[in-house]
Amino acid sequence: MMSYDDNNIFAKILRGEIPCEKVLENDHALAFNDIAPQAPVHILVIPKHPYESASQFLQNAADSELVGFQRLVGEVVSLKVIHDSGYRLIANTGRNGRQEVPHYHVHVLGGRDLGCMVF
Ligand code: AMP
Repeated sequence: MMSYDDNNIFAKILRGEIPCEKVLENDHALAFNDIAPQAPVHILVIPKHPYESASQFLQNAADSELVGFQRLVGEVVSLKVIHDSGYRLIANTGRNGRQEVPHYHVHVLGGRDLGCMVF
């Protein structure tokens, strides 16, 4: 991807340059605990290939990557601690979405009442 910043923190995690608290992994995606959790469960799911945004990922990823990523999200939300009580998936994107790390990621939040959606 032309605009992808290879030095972003998630790229470094994927290259093994900095550690993460891994939760689950498959061929196409990695799930790890957020370093500053906003809820008792706060897991990030990222594709292993370099996509900056949701649109870049959804429009350009191979079918196998799309399936692999979604399956890993599915496994994460099946974890007993949030499966029964519910959870929220968030993908902050770009400036208005307040995306801090320019590598596509889905936040999985749960373990408490998350309140109303903020618009
Ligand atoms: P976003 O605003 O959607 O880009 O969120 C980026 C998220 O990455 C934030 O919730 C951060 O707490 C999280 N984060 C930043 N650095 C790390 C790291 N080294 N390991 C795990 N999570 C991180």
